[in-house]
Amino acid sequence: AKKQGGGAFSFFSEELRRELEHRKLLEHDMRIAIAEKSFQVYFQPQVSLTTGAIAGIEALVRWKHETRGMIPPGEFIPVAEKSGLMADIGRVVIAKAIRAAGEWHRAGLQFGRLAVNVSGTELREVDFDAFLFDTLEAEGLPPQKLSLEIVESVILDDEKTGIAAKLRHIRSAGVHLELDDFGTGYASLSHVNPNEIDRLKIDRRFVQNINSNGDNTKIVRAITELARGLGISIIAEGAETEAELTSLKSIGCDQVQGYSIAFPMPTEQAQEWLALRSPKKPQLTVVTGNRA
Ligand code: C2E
Ligand code: MG
Ligand code: MG
Ligand code: MG
Repeated sequence: AKKQGGGAFSFFSEELRRELEHRKLLEHDMRIAIAEKSFQVYFQPQVSLTTGAIAGIEALVRWKHETRGMIPPGEFIPVAEKSGLMADIGRVVIAKAIRAAGEWHRAGLQFGRLAVNVSGTELREVDFDAFLFDTLEAEGLPPQKLSLEIVESVILDDEKTGIAAKLRHIRSAGVHLELDDFGTGYASLSHVNPNEIDRLKIDRRFVQNINSNGDNTKIVRAITELARGLGISIIAEGAETEAELTSLKSIGCDQVQGYSIAFPMPTEQAQEWLALRSPKKPQLTVVTGNRA
């Protein structure tokens, strides 16, 4: 038994050693990618099921590693957070996303709001709000065209770190705030407050198989009714099938994002997607007439 224990222990250390090694390599390459600003941004549209209008478009970081290929955010963001690199990566992403949205805005493309994900470490940087306002100004994007997606734990963590005050400042300029992955965190209902939050984003785990999973149907219906009662917008993330869209529509969860609508796309492709759906003025008149 002792021998086995020893064996298990050295196996564990080997695993741990390899993981630390992997992390060090990733961290090293991440610093280079930050310096070269080589992180890319993909965009995934959000639409209204009843009107078909584009409600927004979410910016999602992509890292194409020279030798490893595409590394998903789920793999490198935790390392970036631990290494203190997430704030720098976030700024590359936010600047690129706002630059693209500024161009779309000037071109008259309709995209609703640009939604960017912001983590607690990014928000804790003293000059995060200044950085955000400077970037909006430089790229010519009105604050009303931007939304920040934050997870529930960030809202909780707020008073001592000054995040709450910063978020209020940002929101008072017209930027929207939303709770991402809603239903999976620890937000108390006191944070689901229309004076603090503009939209709830229902986590994918409740949206998946909503058509056949009765519990998910009930959860999404309850969250939708809560939001409607409070006057907060609602969106479902990760809708993959037509059946899921049909269920969401019947529940009255109007806005959706997911593979069933569009995959996250590189900037140019996202721009084409928007351009194809941007109503040209004569067309708009006809559509409005038909709808009435
Ligand atoms: P999230 O903000 O909840 O983003 C939604 C994730 O679901 C994205 O994964 C998206 O590609 C994926 N997704 C969208 N539609 C579907 C669908 O129909 N089915 C399935 N299975 N997945 C779908 P992604 O791009 O891998 O990002 C993962 C997470 O990494 C994000 O979750 C967000 O928490 C974080 N993240 C991504 N980009 C950034 C960023 O620029 N800054 C920060 N701070 N976090 C980011
Ligand atoms: Mg998000
Ligand atoms: Mg989410
Ligand atoms: Mg999620």
